[in-house]
Amino acid sequence: MWYSILDTLILIRDDNHMALLEILYFPDPRLRNIAKPVQTVDAGIRQLLDDMLDTMYAAPGIGLAATQINSDKRVVVIDVSEEKDQPLCLINPEILELEGVEEMEEGCLSVPGVFETVQRADQVRLRALDRDGKSVEIQAGGLLAVCIQHEIDHLDGKLFVDYLSQLKRTRIRKKLEKEQRQTNPEVDAKSSQRVI
Ligand code: ZN
Repeated sequence: MWYSILDTLILIRDDNHMALLEILYFPDPRLRNIAKPVQTVDAGIRQLLDDMLDTMYAAPGIGLAATQINSDKRVVVIDVSEEKDQPLCLINPEILELEGVEEMEEGCLSVPGVFETVQRADQVRLRALDRDGKSVEIQAGGLLAVCIQHEIDHLDGKLFVDYLSQLKRTRIRKKLEKEQRQTNPEVDAKSSQRVI
């Protein structure tokens, strides 16, 4: 009995565990998947949140949605703080109110090297579950508001390049496809298989 308790404690205190997840890149069709609501906030979901935070900080980025790492859970992690010490975990986020208009230059871990101005609401009020499964309401403005809208879009299969013109989006897609072929010949082989 003692041993099993001890084992559990050791597992809980294993802070060295760090898992970096593979981020999908535009135009990967899996980025268009619609995420499904989380039914129970359990240890598996908390592990997913931890792995997503590790991946986001390592990238480095200020937000990451589960869709970007090929998970279908409605889960996002965000940290817009300077010190990178204020992680925000949102499960089943639901926007209650949008207000005002703001234009900000956005980037995305799934669209590397591309920064474009997007118009969004300036204030957002939302409801979500936190990592303990508790319902919380959040009011946010500025960068955090933009980040929240960007990440929730991911859960609905939407990318920030969708707000740009068709011409611009096509240029970005071609540029990224070329880069992905150059850095990883396997990607090219895989996409050829898909075409066939
Ligand atoms: Zn993104």
